[in-house]
Amino acid sequence: MNNNSLPKILIVDDAPSVSRFMGQSLGSDYDILFACCGKEALEITAREMPDLILLDVIMPEPDGYEVCRTLKKDPVLKDIPVIFITASSKLESEIQGLEVGAVDFISKTINPEILKLRVQNHIELKRQKDILSRLSLMDGLTCIPNRRAFDETLNREWLRAQRNGKQMSLLMIDIDHFKLYNDTCGHLAGDDCLKLIATTLKKTPLRPGDFVARYGGEEFSCILPETTEDGASRTAERLLQAVRELNIPHASSPTAPLVTISIGIATILPTLDTYPEELIALADARLFRAKASGRDRVCCDHEQD
Ligand code: GH3
Ligand code: MG
Ligand code: MG
Repeated sequence: MNNNSLPKILIVDDAPSVSRFMGQSLGSDYDILFACCGKEALEITAREMPDLILLDVIMPEPDGYEVCRTLKKDPVLKDIPVIFITASSKLESEIQGLEVGAVDFISKTINPEILKLRVQNHIELKRQKDILSRLSLMDGLTCIPNRRAFDETLNREWLRAQRNGKQMSLLMIDIDHFKLYNDTCGHLAGDDCLKLIATTLKKTPLRPGDFVARYGGEEFSCILPETTEDGASRTAERLLQAVRELNIPHASSPTAPLVTISIGIATILPTLDTYPEELIALADARLFRAKASGRDRVCCDHEQD
C-alpha cells in the first residue's frame, strides 16, 4: 500500500445495484474499482493490485470460490485479502469461503456500518503487512535492498533468463581497505561511508531492470538482466568511477588517498543444469582477483579463473 494514495478496494458482484450500494457505504476514504464477473475480477486484480477484494460468491463461472482459489495460487496476488459477500447465511458457505483463503465473510443483507468497520480493520492489517514486507527486504543501515531481496531477485531473474534464453550478469562489489577506514575514521564514519556508497551505487544510471543490493558487510551486488559481459564491464566501470567521484578521503588506504571499490563480474546463460550459486561463485572469484591485482578495478578475466 502506497502511503500517498488511497487504499484500493475491488468490489466484485454481478448485480450492479449491490456493487453500487457497497461502494457508497465505504464512502470516499478508498479508491474503489468494480468488476461484474469473476473473469473481470482476475484481470483487474492483476492490473491494479488492489489492497482488498470484496467478492461475491454466486456469479456465473468462475464463481467467487474459484476466483479466490486462483488468486491464492498466484505468488504475486496471494497476499491480497479477500472478504466474501454472500446471500447465503449457511455455515457451510462460510466454512468453504474461509477454507479457500478468505480473511472474512459478510452475509447479505449488508449493514453499511458493519461493512465499513470490517473493511477498515482489514485495510489496517494489510497496511501493516505491507510495511513489514517492505522492511524485511530492506537493509536497515543503507535503506537499499538487502540480502534477502537479492536472493529473491537473483532466483527470479535466473528463471526469466532461462525462459528467454538470454545472458545475465552479476557484479560483486567490495569496498577497498574498509577495515582501515573504520580503524582510522571510526565506525560511525564507516557507517556514513557505507550509506553514501550504497546510495551512489543505486542511483548511478543503470537500466530499469538492474538491481543493486547490500550483500553483507561492506559488499554490494548488482544483478544485470539481459546483459552481456561487455555491457556489464561498462556498468562496472561507471560504478567504480561514481565512487571515486565521491572523493571520500581515505588517508590510510595503500591503494589511493580516497575510498575506492573493486568489482568482480560474471556473465552466464542460465540453463537447466546451471545454478545461480555458480554465478555468485564466479563473480566472487573475479572480485578476489581484482583485489589481488591492485584493487580499485574491475575484473572479468575468465582466462585466469
Ligand atoms: P579489502 O580491500 O581486501 O576488501 O579489505 P577490507 O578491509 O575492506 O576487508 P575486510 O573484510 O578485512 O574488512 C571489512 C570491514 O568492513 C570490517 C568490518 O568491520 C567492516 N564493516 C562491515 N560491515 C560494516 C558496517 O555495517 N559498518 C561499519 N562501519 N563497518 C562495517
Ligand atoms: Mg573490503
Ligand atoms: Mg569484504
